[in-house]
Amino acid sequence: MKLNFCSLSSGSSGNCYYLGNEFHGILIDAGISATSIRRFLKNMDISMQTIMGVLITHNHIDHIRGLELLTRKNSLPAFTTHNIWKSILTPHRNISRDSVREIPVKQKFHLAGFDIEAFPVCHDAPETIGFHICAGGKKITIATDLGHICQTAAPYIKAANFLVIESNYDEQMLVNGNYPHFLKARIRSDHGHLGNHQTSAFLAENISDNLSIICLAHLSKNNNTPGIVLQTLQRTFSEKGIILNGQQRISILNRNTPTEIIRLID
Ligand SMILES: [Zn+2]
Ligand SMILES: [Zn+2]
Repeated sequence: MKLNFCSLSSGSSGNCYYLGNEFHGILIDAGISATSIRRFLKNMDISMQTIMGVLITHNHIDHIRGLELLTRKNSLPAFTTHNIWKSILTPHRNISRDSVREIPVKQKFHLAGFDIEAFPVCHDAPETIGFHICAGGKKITIATDLGHICQTAAPYIKAANFLVIESNYDEQMLVNGNYPHFLKARIRSDHGHLGNHQTSAFLAENISDNLSIICLAHLSKNNNTPGIVLQTLQRTFSEKGIILNGQQRISILNRNTPTEIIRLID
């Protein structure tokens, strides 16, 4: 079995991730236009027909921008919790009701050869979830919008072999930047986003040989750069005496363009 991952877009202007084997694939979030999603998949020779569903983390527009067209034009089933659906469907009336699939949290369900479990995270939406996905013996965790790593999320993040985790802002850039005070406070709060130091500290504390690929995701356009994310992580790791083994990789996900395909099982 093959298992491939690709980030089509990651950040406050749009989030969408692809995970697939040689037969089927799923999307996690649809925060860029449906046209871009179709185009990016086509460029990778992935047919839209093989996409069996889209998992939705929460109702913020950078996670659902393309959802309406994917449900109407591609009849794509979309999976999220009852409360998240409520927060999406009230303002977005054109999403096809035929695509609505409600899922519980902390309970596995099966889709296209993947065992999927949603877990709650802390973020300033009515409800937000991350996803833990098992396929071909690999454990994949995706946690992109969370103000801190709470007890409900930590075990899923620690269990991952392949981790997509937010590293949203550099603390100095945010403090010194020109965002209004309330927005700075919102981003830094326990229900906002993870800063570079928070993510790095958690990884330094919890990294094990089982974690082979770390993708740092959802970088802020105004308060972060890929170079600073990497520097912060490397400095934190070296302070803690952590040396990555030859198999472990760190990748910073592009904000507006797809990454190369990452092969989890070849
Ligand atoms: Zn977001
Ligand atoms: Zn959000």
